[in-house]
Amino acid sequence: MQKQNKLSSLIFATGNAHKLQEASAILQLSLEPLSDSLAQIMPPETGLTFQENALIKARFIFEQTGKPCFAEDSGLCVDALSGSPGIFSARFAGENADASQNNTLLLHKMNGEENRSAHFIAVICYVNEMGDAYFFEGKVYGDIATSIMGEKGFGYDPLFVPKGYNQSFAQLGAQVKNEISHRKIALKAFADFLIK
Ligand code: IMP
Repeated sequence: MQKQNKLSSLIFATGNAHKLQEASAILQLSLEPLSDSLAQIMPPETGLTFQENALIKARFIFEQTGKPCFAEDSGLCVDALSGSPGIFSARFAGENADASQNNTLLLHKMNGEENRSAHFIAVICYVNEMGDAYFFEGKVYGDIATSIMGEKGFGYDPLFVPKGYNQSFAQLGAQVKNEISHRKIALKAFADFLIK
């Protein structure tokens, strides 16, 4: 299939095994992880937006390899916290914080808060063989739970209940999540662009 050929020859500029696994499942391709040597020298995400951070990652890998590639920057935006943690989602509770520490901090900040609306966002940046950058975005809306629910997935999945469901992403599991997630919507827009 044309889409599969184009996508399977692309580098996914991520060192995040969870993103790689979800993107492979969504695209029904086995995307290769970045080589260790590249993963180790990925630049810091110094951008002020998801777009800027996705561009930093994709442009860097393009410059290192000379090959077309794509990167994704994503995060959780909580309305009652003015969009926080946003681009700081991975390091909400500190530079080396793990998911459990980030979730604990989020629960703490949301303690007693009635407005629990939030969304996940994923921005993909594709840099083609000419070095031109294109962006694709996906969002999924939902609510922040009042306690940890479920063990599947990663990151904030145990606290995110998508609209129309009463279980968290971590309870719903990969099959449901990969049908409705921010990552799915962004990857679909990207795949559609490639086959145009
Ligand atoms: P990035 O590597 O800077 O894009 O960090 C993304 C961070 O956002 C992750 O480390 C998670 O904390 C959070 N995040 C993004 N997408 C998801 C998701 O699908 N589920 C749970 N957390 C996510």
